[in-house]
Amino acid sequence: MIVIMSPQATESDIEQVQQLLADRGYGVHLSRGVERTIIGAIGALDEEKALVAEQLDVLPAVERVVAILKPYKLVSREARAERSAVPVGNVEVGVQKLAVMAGPCSVESEQQLMECAEGVKEGGAAILRGGAFKPRTSPYDFQGLGEEGLRLLVAARERTGLPIVTEVRDVRQVPLVNEHADLLQIGARNMHNSDLLKEVGGCDKPVLLKRGFAATIEEWLKAAEYIAAAGNLNIILCERGIRTFDTTLRYTFDLSAIPVAQAETHLPVIADPSHASGQSEYVAPLAMGAVAAGADGLMIEVHPQPERALSDGPQSLTPTAFAKLMQQLRSVAAAVGRSM
Ligand code: PEP
Ligand code: MN
Repeated sequence: MIVIMSPQATESDIEQVQQLLADRGYGVHLSRGVERTIIGAIGALDEEKALVAEQLDVLPAVERVVAILKPYKLVSREARAERSAVPVGNVEVGVQKLAVMAGPCSVESEQQLMECAEGVKEGGAAILRGGAFKPRTSPYDFQGLGEEGLRLLVAARERTGLPIVTEVRDVRQVPLVNEHADLLQIGARNMHNSDLLKEVGGCDKPVLLKRGFAATIEEWLKAAEYIAAAGNLNIILCERGIRTFDTTLRYTFDLSAIPVAQAETHLPVIADPSHASGQSEYVAPLAMGAVAAGADGLMIEVHPQPERALSDGPQSLTPTAFAKLMQQLRSVAAAVGRSM
């Protein structure tokens, strides 16, 4: 924590601050500049820093208190300088080779899922996605097949060998989803659900944490910290678009979130251009941008017949379009030192 004194601060003001810090047991380091004196408080306890900073701010001679206080600690770059790799079944996310998760928005039927799973595998996906418990905005929309959807995902994993990622929407579903899935997805609408975050933090499966569409990067990373603080450090972050004033597309893809989240945390960061754009024709350019920006992977919705999809058809690629995109992405990945 650093206390920046105002240019008008007198010797006794400076002493007052020094005394205040010393009384709390901090080591005090004084640095006198031409205009301002800066006081460093060393050894401040994390849980006290915010309160002490607030108290010091009350003093008129104090211009500003800079609390070197990352609200996210376990996931922060300070806690771990090297980037983390997260194991998902037999795949590692956060390594030189990018991990692409692809599949339908919702698991609809055995035939749809198997066709899709085989198609995305052929196209080069490493992980199969598919929603069983769907977080729909309207209660009248298709809500997913639930447990039956999980069973079909397990069958698709057996058939293709691809690990599976699926969303868990509620704390009550956690044991069931944890038992079947290789990667537990926390959706954008649940990013702020701290009870759910704590619950998946107690699981032995890795977690894919999507950014809430109205969440700042800091809020997103604090949500990741909930999972980490509950004991699970196998977290993958996913930028999936945010709400802005521009409503041309479904959301606004925040490309900058990728390098920022990578700078702030050691966690792998992937991008979801499907939900970000909401339209299949924009999935490829956003995917290429994400890979160029350093994303550790992608999540892409693929449906064998997008015109028949029960959810998110307009943003779904056909298996053929997906394979073509994967081909295009290979050269973008190579340009930034990654493979696909
Ligand atoms: C999804 O991936 O199926 C999904 C619903 O995404 P999001 O939570 O990002 O809207
Ligand atoms: Mn979807």
